[in-house]
Amino acid sequence: MAEAGVLLLSGLCLLRGFVLDWYQLSSGSMAPTLLGPHRHVACPHCGWNYACDALDTPPPGKRALCANCWTWGPELASLPIVGGDRILLLRGAWGPCAPRRWSVVAFRSPQRASRVQVKRVLGLPGERIELHHGDVYANGRIQRKSLTQQRAMAQLVHDAAHDPTRWRYRVQPQGHGWRSQGEGFACPPPQGQAATEIQWLTYCHQQPLGPHGSHREAPPLDRHAYNQNRTVWQSFPVEDLLLSCRLAWQGEGDLCFRMQHGSQQVLLTIALPAGELTMTIDGMPAGRTRLAPPKQEAQLWELSTFDGQVLLAVDGITLFSRELKPVAAASGDASRPLAIGSRGLSLAVRELRVWRDLYYYWPVAANRHAGDRRAVTLGPEEYFVAGDNVPISDDSRSWARAGVPQQLLVGRPLLLYWRSRTVHILGWQISIPQLSSIGYIR
Ligand SMILES: [Zn+2]
Repeated sequence: MAEAGVLLLSGLCLLRGFVLDWYQLSSGSMAPTLLGPHRHVACPHCGWNYACDALDTPPPGKRALCANCWTWGPELASLPIVGGDRILLLRGAWGPCAPRRWSVVAFRSPQRASRVQVKRVLGLPGERIELHHGDVYANGRIQRKSLTQQRAMAQLVHDAAHDPTRWRYRVQPQGHGWRSQGEGFACPPPQGQAATEIQWLTYCHQQPLGPHGSHREAPPLDRHAYNQNRTVWQSFPVEDLLLSCRLAWQGEGDLCFRMQHGSQQVLLTIALPAGELTMTIDGMPAGRTRLAPPKQEAQLWELSTFDGQVLLAVDGITLFSRELKPVAAASGDASRPLAIGSRGLSLAVRELRVWRDLYYYWPVAANRHAGDRRAVTLGPEEYFVAGDNVPISDDSRSWARAGVPQQLLVGRPLLLYWRSRTVHILGWQISIPQLSSIGYIR
């Protein structure tokens, strides 16, 4: 047994440098996908867990603000600093390691070759890359993500299971229909007139107004709790959203989803149990199909408007997608962007979460050599890269020479194998692994 262990260790050492390598992240430019040195916060009010960047010393008295329930948590400086994530890397830039759009890549910094950086690939060799309203365009075409890619890049906006008061949801019409149930909501079997009108459960986004806990209805912004100890100069309303929930239904009627995307109002109506789906945009017919009849028991439903596209998936299988007009200008009226409706059905939803897409933009004057960019054309062996923590990432968007040359690629980050948090036990500070965070890097 001991011999096998020695052999395995020797094998790994031999592989290191040829096939595999491991690194510890030193910056939060890929957060929250991969974390740099950070502080772990468990919200004392709603129980939501999140990380805050720890590269800068917080001002005295600065407390953590929970982005899920907008209440103040512990003082940041009182929380121990946890080291960056450790990742396993498959070396090389060919075959399974060849960079593809939306894949995560490790490369030697074009500015300092001794430093390895980890970012996501947005543009491939020879492409002309533009960024408009958060979306990536290559050679004039908007680049869309698959469901798996959307999940990998989606940022949590709100988790109803961690919000016992459910104050971000509105019920229409009031008085009957949807009500809070367990960690979710239920719409009971309809009676009388309620059987013919749509009972809506609407997500109503809130932004804090100031340091006193007050807030107002506003569209979701591209802010993240991770950056609350950093200065972020710009923030943008994000209209590319994803709703996910476990949904069970009974009876006969219509399951409806309503989404606001830019100036477009999208309505999906699924007649159950038949599975006949119709889509309208601003009241005009825009699509029709027949789905495999969805099961009545709780399945995972996901509905997104990422990258100018409506996508509906059940249990991880994409059942319907249609292109939308990409957002041409922020509507400014998207504080109630998502709703679930029932006409004649009994519904129960739980694990109800709202997510947003990453929002890409050219940083203003981030690098005086880069100037005020609107587009970049990559060389024949260059890749356009950006960090998932878009507001603070230093990447192709701001470098004087935007593209990362092929010869600087190191390999493909494969596995997040160590993320820890520090706990106090009997006066000792002990690092324990966060097993739920360990996994494949997408
Ligand atoms: Zn909270």
